Amino acid sequence: MPCAFFITGTDTDAGKSVVTAGLLRALAAKGVRARAVKPVQTGCTPLNGHCEAPDVQLYRKAGGEGNVLKSFVAPCSPHLAARLENARLDLAELAEACRAETAVGDLVLFEGAGGLYVPLNEQDMMLDLLRELRLPAVLIIANRLGCINHAILSLNALENAGLDAAGMVLCRTLPPDAPDPGTTPEAEAAILEENSLFLKDLAEKRRVPFLADIPFIPNFSPEDPSAWNRLGAMLMPAAERLLHLAACDAAGNIPESGIIAPMPPRALSARETLDFDRTHLWHPYTSALAPLPVREVTGTLGTRIFLRGGRELIDGMSSWWCALHGYGNKTLVKAAQRQAARFSHVMFGGLTHAPAVELGRRLLPLLPKGLAHIFYADSGSVAVEVAMKMAMQFWRSRGNAEKCRFVALRGAYHGDTIGAMSLCDPVTGMHTLFTGLLPRQIFVERPTCRFHDAYDPQSFTPMERTLREHAAEIAAVVVEPIVQGAGGMWFYHPQYLHSLRCLCDELGMLLIADEIATGFGRTGRMFACEWAGITPDILCMGKAMTGGMMTFSAVAATTTTARGISSAPPERGGGLFMHGPTFMANPLACAVACASIDTLLASSWRDRVSVIEHSLSQGLAPCRDLPGVADVRVLGAIGVVETEQSVDVERWQDFFVACGVWIRPFGHTVYVMPPLIASPADLDRLTQALCAAVRSAARHGGAPQIADIPPSLS
Ligand code: PMP
Repeated sequence: MPCAFFITGTDTDAGKSVVTAGLLRALAAKGVRARAVKPVQTGCTPLNGHCEAPDVQLYRKAGGEGNVLKSFVAPCSPHLAARLENARLDLAELAEACRAETAVGDLVLFEGAGGLYVPLNEQDMMLDLLRELRLPAVLIIANRLGCINHAILSLNALENAGLDAAGMVLCRTLPPDAPDPGTTPEAEAAILEENSLFLKDLAEKRRVPFLADIPFIPNFSPEDPSAWNRLGAMLMPAAERLLHLAACDAAGNIPESGIIAPMPPRALSARETLDFDRTHLWHPYTSALAPLPVREVTGTLGTRIFLRGGRELIDGMSSWWCALHGYGNKTLVKAAQRQAARFSHVMFGGLTHAPAVELGRRLLPLLPKGLAHIFYADSGSVAVEVAMKMAMQFWRSRGNAEKCRFVALRGAYHGDTIGAMSLCDPVTGMHTLFTGLLPRQIFVERPTCRFHDAYDPQSFTPMERTLREHAAEIAAVVVEPIVQGAGGMWFYHPQYLHSLRCLCDELGMLLIADEIATGFGRTGRMFACEWAGITPDILCMGKAMTGGMMTFSAVAATTTTARGISSAPPERGGGLFMHGPTFMANPLACAVACASIDTLLASSWRDRVSVIEHSLSQGLAPCRDLPGVADVRVLGAIGVVETEQSVDVERWQDFFVACGVWIRPFGHTVYVMPPLIASPADLDRLTQALCAAVRSAARHGGAPQIADIPPSLS
């Protein structure tokens, strides 16, 4: 983790450069090697073929060192200065160049240009550079009329971007008696004094340290070393604060120099965090006594997951199908912030709201034709419970209470609640643990016809036989359309689904499509049912619906299904659908789901999925011929390597993390389903890491060895 800070201002001419130079002086007095880096400098003077950067000259005069990454002549905003030279600043490139500066090991002070909302190009701002770098910011506040407003706006901007403010410095760059426009010299003194008092109080309330109040220094001469000594002394508490924070680096290490105060008591060390977690927190499918190891995440952005200690992983899992647009998507974050500030929850009994209605309006045209009634629920499993209850109530309201069993596929996964679990594969789906509790459903073998093969009508025979045999007692058939996910990552033929739809109609049973994993584009269709051109009677969706921002799900039913339930006479329930979770239609989740759908529709998601499909097919192809591999298959943005032996999750995961990727295998499958924003380089790394793991595992009896990681991945 680099020791670096970002110096930003409430405004142009806030005194950032002088404070940065003064901080270098103070840090030098502490014996700390520090440098200042200006990512973008405008207003440079062309001299002998290169640009003289004024701020770098100032750092040097203060006895420090510094450099500029991008320089432009015009003294204006970076986006305009670049455009005037027919150039364009690229955010990713600039962030990469900044990161390279932190590799040297010195403490680096990045000095921004102007304030946080200064444009770098037509879409990115200085704040986006801070987000990319994830550095704590030091806010330099120009002590003048209006600065309280600017300071609060800047602190809010940092907070809303998930960034820490390391502290604030109030700085007066004009003589105290030089009145701001619209005020008088007499009022000015009172304004300056009040600014200082108010901001000190604000600092306390917001728990952002007030580091220094730099008055106007008359006759300050940058050429005079004693002037810098005086400024350095004023900034000493600020320098000490930065060193104190630098001490709390991601690994919890205190720098060797020993001059730094110990870590603040509120922050747990990396070890303490993991110890507490291991002792008190349950993780998915783990023992409380001997859990598998976990890693601490400190942040996410785009396709990246950041671990404590500084390691950066490319996400291959989309956090279990959810993070469709990657992490920290600005539109989604803003939607959550805006809705949270308006109203984040109200009960849905007797009330409604725009986010719920807007989401419904967006969902209906995307869903298979005919689905017209939406029930919002909390999670995928609950959506499956709701769908099962709908099917039961449908038949009961029609006087067919005997139709109360469900048919599911072997290899299926539908969730972990009681009803949903009863539909999961009876062998891998934990049924033996809960015998007596789970309703007993009817299982049919996994469809044998693969997605990409010619359809074999024989593959439908087991389903047909079962449905005809049990028709009188079956309420519904429940399937994951086209892709069976957590039960084995199996892709089957659309014609199977089509035949199933026809037979359900013929025999009078409902078809429930669990699109919780497949919905919202993952397979290359908005919903996987589209591959077969069918409409289920009930469809469950969840996971990617909020782009992975929070838990949420929905169940859509056809008009026939909804009316069937609701036309029940009083003795059969009176037509009320009997489910109503506390957090039903949670406005926060609805607002984020709307933003996620808008983001998806505004993107070229079909093209993205086919690019990913192509890349995964090519990248995983070498695995086909490796020993220990049973199958390699790719559909849409899902790539699967099926292994002959069950994998040792811990060993495989260690290997992947050492390769800089996040892939979590289970059972016999090692698979990736990256966010749709994954770049070609991300996809390459994911598939290369997967191939390297399979290759190494083949060589070492099933578990990959870190020593086998090729140099290109380490
Ligand atoms: N159905 C399917 C197809 C799923 O993949 C999952 C989750 N993996 C669920 C249901 C359950 O969803 P949740 O974990 O949100 O309860």
